[in-house]
Amino acid sequence: MSYYSPSIEKLIEAFEKLPSIGSKTAARLAFYILNASKEETDEFISAIQNAKQNLKYCSKCFNISDTDPCEICSNPKRDNSVICVVEDVKDVVAMERTHEFKGVYHVLHGSISPMNGVGPDDIKIKELLTRLMGGEVKEIILATNPRVEGEATAMYISKLIKPTGIKVTRIAHGIPVGGDLEYTDEVTLSKALEGRREL
Ligand SMILES: [Zn+2]
Repeated sequence: MSYYSPSIEKLIEAFEKLPSIGSKTAARLAFYILNASKEETDEFISAIQNAKQNLKYCSKCFNISDTDPCEICSNPKRDNSVICVVEDVKDVVAMERTHEFKGVYHVLHGSISPMNGVGPDDIKIKELLTRLMGGEVKEIILATNPRVEGEATAMYISKLIKPTGIKVTRIAHGIPVGGDLEYTDEVTLSKALEGRREL
């Protein structure tokens, strides 16, 4: 049985549906909202509505954006000959934070995972191949996650693209900055060794 009134209970339930929110956090957020000013809650509600109404997928790279094509695809300063392939929209943000990458992206919206019933046709691989037909692309950087699914996806795409003669690279994986060799697991360590470069 619930100790909360039905309205609060409903609000807590709504928060609980969000990723990585447990019941305690959900209750804390619900009470935060209850104590917030009307302006604050109105702003919060309209931010959600606005995002839902305005955001769309870029028809070129499948990044989420207010515009189609997205800001990155429509930026003349970006190098259209290099495409960085990522699994998720959040990975684009992570890459952009580095300020190192000047090319464009392709968001797969997932990775190949036979265990979860996700095959190559369920993610945006066909769309990637279509982008390569223009002949402008010179390099594909596979930046899928260094997990089993991400590796399998990278291997699959690489096999498809290699015959076209376009350069296919994979981001290096290794020991995180500030990490200790002693505490690094063997998979990470062997990947780091594999991805070593000349100094
Ligand atoms: Zn785009």
